[in-house]
Amino acid sequence: MSEDCIFCGIVAGEVPSYTLYEDDEVVSFLDVNPASDGHALVVPKGHDERLAEMDDAAVAATFTTARDVAAALEDALAPPGYNVVQNNGAAAGQEVDHAHVHVIPRTPGDDVAFGWQPGDLDEERAEELVERVGEHL
Ligand code: AMP
Ligand code: ZN
Repeated sequence: MSEDCIFCGIVAGEVPSYTLYEDDEVVSFLDVNPASDGHALVVPKGHDERLAEMDDAAVAATFTTARDVAAALEDALAPPGYNVVQNNGAAAGQEVDHAHVHVIPRTPGDDVAFGWQPGDLDEERAEELVERVGEHL
């Protein structure tokens, strides 16, 4: 638990939430500022800031629950699609520094926007990346 962390507050039951699901590892609740109807968050109970800091058990529980929440949203709301989003760092749009996964139902023509301009993968850079990143895996 981290002081001043809103999601730790929810995990501790000190901050209210519209809880969809809870077990020993994770809690899932509705996003208070939803991008779309049914926008849900899945939050591991332990306080890690980013995905890469989470241990295997927390990752497994969080993403298994994200899948289950996605399936439940499909069963309940039948959205034509959904995005699973996980932001790390302010540069990536992370606002709450407690790692979490968004499940965002999507419909054609909604005003939810994710996107980038596709670039061209440079061959030399690709080979360098395979070497440099691969070394750490
Ligand atoms: P991120 O930008 O990935 O850090 O997303 C943080 C999300 O948490 C945002 O979509 C907020 O709307 C949501 N959020 C922040 N505080 C609360 C809260 N107390 N209850 C539910 N959702 C929250
Ligand atoms: Zn926290």
